[in-house]
Amino acid sequence: MTTTWDLMALLMLIGAVWGSFLNVCIHRIPAEENVVVTPSHCPKCQQRIAWYDLIPILSWLILGGRCRHCQERISLVYPLVEFTAALLTVATLHHFGINQTGIALTILGYALITLTVIDLYHYILPDVITLPGIALGLICTWIPGFNPPMAHWQDAWIGVIAGGGGLWLFGWLFQRITGKEGMGLGDVKLTAMLGAWLGWKALPFTIFAAAVIGSVVGLLWIALSGRDRTLPIPFGPYLALGAWGYLHFGPMVYSWYLGRPLVLF
Ligand SMILES: [Zn+2]
Repeated sequence: MTTTWDLMALLMLIGAVWGSFLNVCIHRIPAEENVVVTPSHCPKCQQRIAWYDLIPILSWLILGGRCRHCQERISLVYPLVEFTAALLTVATLHHFGINQTGIALTILGYALITLTVIDLYHYILPDVITLPGIALGLICTWIPGFNPPMAHWQDAWIGVIAGGGGLWLFGWLFQRITGKEGMGLGDVKLTAMLGAWLGWKALPFTIFAAAVIGSVVGLLWIALSGRDRTLPIPFGPYLALGAWGYLHFGPMVYSWYLGRPLVLF
């Protein structure tokens, strides 16, 4: 008989393995390299990495965070992504169940981890993730068997058009008034993607939470590191965090605010 702990350990392991694939996507998508065909190699010495050096989290610890061949430092981001993916897999499947909805939301989580790290490194949210993400969210609304918080098809379309469009309009007005670019098109597409998956009702919470967390982190960053305030601050990671907050706490916060349960369907 499988105990809950066995199951959780198995899900962590599966999540960590997916995390190592997300690392591949994070480093190759911005460079427009193939994420499937090319074998893993050290970015510095180009040596091919053996399977026993590709074990999520463990290999990094065993190698002391350095390449086996050239001793180049391997970023802490690699094991962190694997660990985050492992935790996200367990948390999501525990919260929403090991079913169609839980698995779909886990995949959404993987996309958000990938987008977050790419945005932090490069200030971009690649179309190759967000555009298929919008399509996949809309396709899910036509497949029977998905439960809330995944969107009903009408809420999904309103989310894409009003959510994406609203953020685009906000960015356009901001730029008109201040002369600075406030919102990238990548942020608009990510918002549309979140609308497609979670429906327009998720967006006020998500965008508000993103703005609050983003402002606090941005101000702390400037205060603590003396970071130049004219540098761009990526918004994608905060949208991703806001959406994740909505998944776990959104309906609770809405029902407190509205004084009645939020009807998702
Ligand atoms: Zn190397």
